[in-house]
Amino acid sequence: MSALKVLPTVPGTQPIISKKPAVDPSTLAYKDLLRGPFWQRIPAYASVTEEQFLDHNWQAKNSITSPAKLLAAVQELVPAAFIQDAELGFKHSPMSVRVSPYMLSLIDWENPYEDPLRIQFIPMGSKLKADHPKLDLDSLHEQADAPVPGLTHRYQDKALFLALDTCPVYCRFCTRSYAVGVDTEEVEKVSLKVSSERWARAFEYIASRPELEDIVISGGDAYQLRAQQIEEIGDALLAIPNVRRMRFATKGPAVMPQKLLTDHAWTDALTRVVEKGRKLHKEVVLHTHFNHPKEITGITEDAMNKLMERGITVRNQSVLQRGVNDSPETMTMLVKRMGHLNIHAYYVYVHDLVKGVEDLRTSVDTAIFIEKHVRGSTAGINTPTFVVDAPGGGGKRDVHSFEYYDRETGISVYMAPSVKAGQYFLYFDPLHQLSKAVQRRWADPAEHDLMTNAAIAKAKERIR
Ligand SMILES: *Cc1c(COP(=O)(O)O)cnc(C)c1O
Ligand code: SF4
Repeated sequence: MSALKVLPTVPGTQPIISKKPAVDPSTLAYKDLLRGPFWQRIPAYASVTEEQFLDHNWQAKNSITSPAKLLAAVQELVPAAFIQDAELGFKHSPMSVRVSPYMLSLIDWENPYEDPLRIQFIPMGSKLKADHPKLDLDSLHEQADAPVPGLTHRYQDKALFLALDTCPVYCRFCTRSYAVGVDTEEVEKVSLKVSSERWARAFEYIASRPELEDIVISGGDAYQLRAQQIEEIGDALLAIPNVRRMRFATKGPAVMPQKLLTDHAWTDALTRVVEKGRKLHKEVVLHTHFNHPKEITGITEDAMNKLMERGITVRNQSVLQRGVNDSPETMTMLVKRMGHLNIHAYYVYVHDLVKGVEDLRTSVDTAIFIEKHVRGSTAGINTPTFVVDAPGGGGKRDVHSFEYYDRETGISVYMAPSVKAGQYFLYFDPLHQLSKAVQRRWADPAEHDLMTNAAIAKAKERIR
């Protein structure tokens, strides 16, 4: 392409010769956000007005929690075989199922099997894969690192506070399927209900540890807290002298941005905590969880603009998932679209070893490949760090920082000197990405120790 001439705006000056070719318009597609009554494509929402669709109560009340409700909503859009497949999926899912009408409306129902939002929220029986043999339910050992139920103190100066165990939607791939949502046929859950008593014990512990500066308030999901509970938690933590930073973690902006626009009590409560924090010189921010550019619409833009106007910082943590966002193009688009709306891309997690979602996991190698493409595509401050949350409680590790990675057996070995010095943490790539010969080795329990010990021995060779 020839160098582009930019016509002079200052009379009498020479045209500027651009040294870069004009961009392909498709590279600007991240700015094109879906607007208009897109939900009316769904038979059950054909006559739902904008006012109703923006009403967070309507969204919550009409969320899909069973195959029957799914069928009632999408009606003739999908064949009966699809609903039967979903029934089987719901039956075997370790997670509860809940999908907001907003998410449901964004699914491409002409091609639901391939749709990145369907993949995240609606399990299909036919897609189930056997779990990796090294997988257990609380693979991150959050409970083992908890001095008080629902408070995980793993790192030195930061802790994770699980305030409650419900969410506005339930993600199939949830790391906390050991606690989040109601019991399912597959899993009986640990209870982390809203409880002022349990919370008070957590606050007491935080106050007793002067090294704790940073508290993540999660769950479950902070969206499900009532406005006064947001303030109760916010005020209690702000009053603790050693607490300097807090993050309310919620998937809400990604799955139900309406709430930020119409649940005034909730958004105002958050704003008050943020402002109070600012006066105390403490940072209070929102952490959210977008995984695919399609989740971001004009409604999201309106919601994010509202937070921007109130000076509320929003950061994002994504989970890398096969068929959802495991391509450089999709991940770059997501990162740029978020940046456009002032959402900072903070982390991309390599999928945790979670029960029942082996089909969603990707390898460490895939993460490294995608990271290479994303880095450089936008501002560094909007470029996520790709991390593995090391099974066994090693915490988040930069994917590239392994001591050893055997791409053949899919074993990567990490260390976490500032978290648990001297220990080795192993992550396991999904079996379906390994060769048939290695899959056979994983099918034989006698081979497991041979493979993991060989990987650890290699890692030890590297230690200086
Ligand atoms: C992720 C996490 C945190 C916060 O870690 P950052 O890297 O600062 O985002 C704190 N505690 C636990 C247990 C965590 O999993
Ligand atoms: S919103 Fe978060 S905590 Fe809730 S199901 Fe999804 S990933 Fe799990």
